[in-house]
Amino acid sequence: MIRQVIARYGELSLKGKNRHQFEERLVGNMRRVVADVPGVRIARQNGRVLITLDDAPVDVVISRLKNVFGIVSLSPVEVTGLALEEMVQAALRVRGEEARRLGLSAAERSFKVEAKRVNKRYPLTSMEVASEVGGQLLAAETGWTVDVHHPAVTVFVEVRDEEALVYGVKVPALGGLPVGTSGRVGLLLSGGIDSPVAGWLALKRGVELDAIHFHSFPFTSQRALDKVETLAQTLANWGGRVRLHTVHFTDVQTEIRKHCPENLTITVMRRMMMRISERIAEQNALLALVTGESLGQVASQTLESLRVINAVTRLPVLRPLIAEDKVSIIRLARQIGTYETSILPYEDCCTIFVPKQPRTKPGLAETERAEQDLDVERLVSEAVARTETKVFSRRSPVG
Ligand code: ATP
Ligand code: MG
Repeated sequence: MIRQVIARYGELSLKGKNRHQFEERLVGNMRRVVADVPGVRIARQNGRVLITLDDAPVDVVISRLKNVFGIVSLSPVEVTGLALEEMVQAALRVRGEEARRLGLSAAERSFKVEAKRVNKRYPLTSMEVASEVGGQLLAAETGWTVDVHHPAVTVFVEVRDEEALVYGVKVPALGGLPVGTSGRVGLLLSGGIDSPVAGWLALKRGVELDAIHFHSFPFTSQRALDKVETLAQTLANWGGRVRLHTVHFTDVQTEIRKHCPENLTITVMRRMMMRISERIAEQNALLALVTGESLGQVASQTLESLRVINAVTRLPVLRPLIAEDKVSIIRLARQIGTYETSILPYEDCCTIFVPKQPRTKPGLAETERAEQDLDVERLVSEAVARTETKVFSRRSPVG
């Protein structure tokens, strides 16, 4: 019976202290997503993580864990001693289980054994282990043939220092880095399709997220705000915990409309968002800002425009989607479960007060001139003072 699962992670670039922190975080994050599944134990084991299941259902555990950032792949495994006979018995069970899982008919029963020897003191080479175990599997049950090129079932045997692992599948997982290993960033979260995806990609690189949302009550509705909260909740289901700062942006927008040339209002509005976000970042020790911008996607996302918007902050502004096409962003949004929420038709603060002819290539000097009648500092501090913060924790684990 398979009562254990191995989780592999990319360890190549990890050294010393980093590695320790990576592993600690990974194991902690893994424990959290299966906390409600009784009987699961998770422990580090030289270069990988071993999950012991007791009575926990293997499918549930794997589908939860494969959505934990940092894990590259998972395999249900049998852990045996180093005696060949033990490996053979385990390999027989694994082959049988795979045949059942794949629904193989009698005619389709072909297999091969692949062996890997991590333990170089083991008396048999990898090739010898594979051929010994393979030979005994062939003899043990009729109805199976060996096919080294296109086997229906591959049985993997890994000979380690103190035990052997025998398994039939490698379930691919997300990779990336464990959330909490890369510091904390501020995600500018609109109700659109892009920014939640950008936030998810940032989570995948190990950051923790604070989301910052600008709303323009009463021009934008409570339902628009609910939608953003749903998106924050979805990101929290992936990342564990997301703080959402909602910024009251109405006064800023009203002042912009009153004091700035119409064709530059979008650019100025974005700069105000950046300034306010930077202030929130300072207060919350956020190391960078993340946006859902993608080069050339809309008028405000030309390089000229990004440059002018960027000029107001000294924080790094990360744009994980900069080179992505809309089609692939939408595909990812569907996968991560934000798409259906994002397409709900509620207005965003950017969609009110839309200028007739926005400048797609604003200059820095002209934008600074456009802001000269704006009391930037007062608007920023007032907006920051009226910001409300709400914390979202993982409610339903993904998977
Ligand atoms: P999205 O789908 O993320 O809304 P978009 O394609 O609609 O992006 P814009 O509306 O130009 O593009 O916004 C660019 C980026 O600015 C967004 O991805 C987001 O990071 C940020 N942003 C826009 N509106 C808001 C808002 N109301 N609150 C917080 N951030 C915002
Ligand atoms: Mg938008």
